[in-house]
Amino acid sequence: ASCRCFLVSRVAGRIPSTPALQTPTDTPPTLRPLPRLLSVVVPLYNEEAIVEELCRRVLSVLRGLGSRFEFVIVDDGSRDRTRERLVAAAAAAPELKVVCLSRNFGLQGAVAAGLSQATGEAVVLMDGDLQDPPELIPELLQRWQRGAEVVFATKRSRKERGLRLLAFSAFHAVFRRLGPRDMPLNAGNFSLMDRRALDAINALGEHNRYLPGLRTWVGFRQEEVRFDRQERAAGAPRMTFGRLVRLGLDGIFGFSYLPLRAATVLGLFACSLGMGLVGWVLVERFVTHTAILGWPSLMVAVCFLGGAQLVSIGILGEYLGRIYDEVRGRPNFLISGVVQATARDPR
Ligand code: UDP
Ligand code: MG
Repeated sequence: ASCRCFLVSRVAGRIPSTPALQTPTDTPPTLRPLPRLLSVVVPLYNEEAIVEELCRRVLSVLRGLGSRFEFVIVDDGSRDRTRERLVAAAAAAPELKVVCLSRNFGLQGAVAAGLSQATGEAVVLMDGDLQDPPELIPELLQRWQRGAEVVFATKRSRKERGLRLLAFSAFHAVFRRLGPRDMPLNAGNFSLMDRRALDAINALGEHNRYLPGLRTWVGFRQEEVRFDRQERAAGAPRMTFGRLVRLGLDGIFGFSYLPLRAATVLGLFACSLGMGLVGWVLVERFVTHTAILGWPSLMVAVCFLGGAQLVSIGILGEYLGRIYDEVRGRPNFLISGVVQATARDPR
C-alpha cells in the first residue's frame, strides 16, 4: 500500500514543465499514469515445489501496486505436478492466466510463448524460481512511469558457484563485445518492456532466440536497475549446464560474425605459415643441402591444419544449422491450452 501512495503522490505532485528553457536534467519528471494493465510473465518447468510461494509473493506485490494486472505463467511441459498446482492456483486468483505448452520447448520457447500471450501496456518478465525478486517490480514500474520503455535488471551479485559462475561471467564478458551495440553486462531475462518494445520483440520471428540480446537490439529508451540475484527457492537449476551452453551459443551466433572471421584469420595464418615452410624447405634442398629429417615438422603441420579446418567447418555448421532452423520455420512453441478463471466464474 505504501508503494501505491508513493506512485499516486508522484502523479498528483506533478509540476508543469517549460521544456524550451530547460535541460533534461532539471526538467521535473512528468510521470505516466499507471499502466491500464500490467502483465507479469513467468516460465516454469518442473517447479511444483515453488508454485505456491511464487504465486503468493508475486500476487502480493502486484496487489499493492494499485494497477490492474495479469499474471501469466507458462507451464513449459512440466512432468511433475506443476500444472495441477497452477490450475488450482488459477481457480483462486482470476488474475492468473496459465499458458500450457504441448511439450517442453526450453526456456526461450517458454518465454516467447508467455510474451505472446501478455496483453498488458507494460510487461514484466522474470524467472519463476524466485532468483529474480518480485519485490523489484515496483521499481521497474516507476522507471516506466518516468518514461523508460525497456527497464532491464542487471545482477550486482549472484549466488552461483564454481564452473557455473565462471561460465556466466565469461559469457557475459564475451557477449558484451560480440552482442548488439550497447549490450549491458550481466543482464538476464528479468526486465520490464513497454507494449511498443514488446510488439517489436514479438515480431522478430527468429528461432534460436536469446531474449536479452533481442531486447537490447530493438532499442527504445532503455534503463538499467541493479539487483542482487537470490538463491533458488527450491530444487536444482532447470537450465542444466548443457542447456546454458546452447543458449549462450545462440546468443553469440545470433549476433556476431566474428567466429566466421576468426576461421578466416586462422586460415590465413596457417597459409602464411605453410608458405614460410616451403621457403625453408627450398633453402635446405638447394642452398644448405642439409638432410631433411622430416616427420616431426610434417606431423605438426598436418595436425595444425587438420585442426584448423575442422574448427572452421564446425563454425560453418553452427551457422548452417541455425539457417536450417530459420528456413524450416517451425514455431518456437505450441500452446495446448490456456487456463484462467473469470471473475464471475463460481469455481
Ligand atoms: N525453465 C523453463 N523451461 C526450461 C528450463 C527452465 O521454463 O526448459 C524455467 C525455470 O522453471 C525457471 C526459469 O526458466 O523458472 C529459469 O530457469 P533456471 O532457474 O534453471 O535458470 P538459471 O537461473 O540457472 O539461469
Ligand atoms: Mg534460476
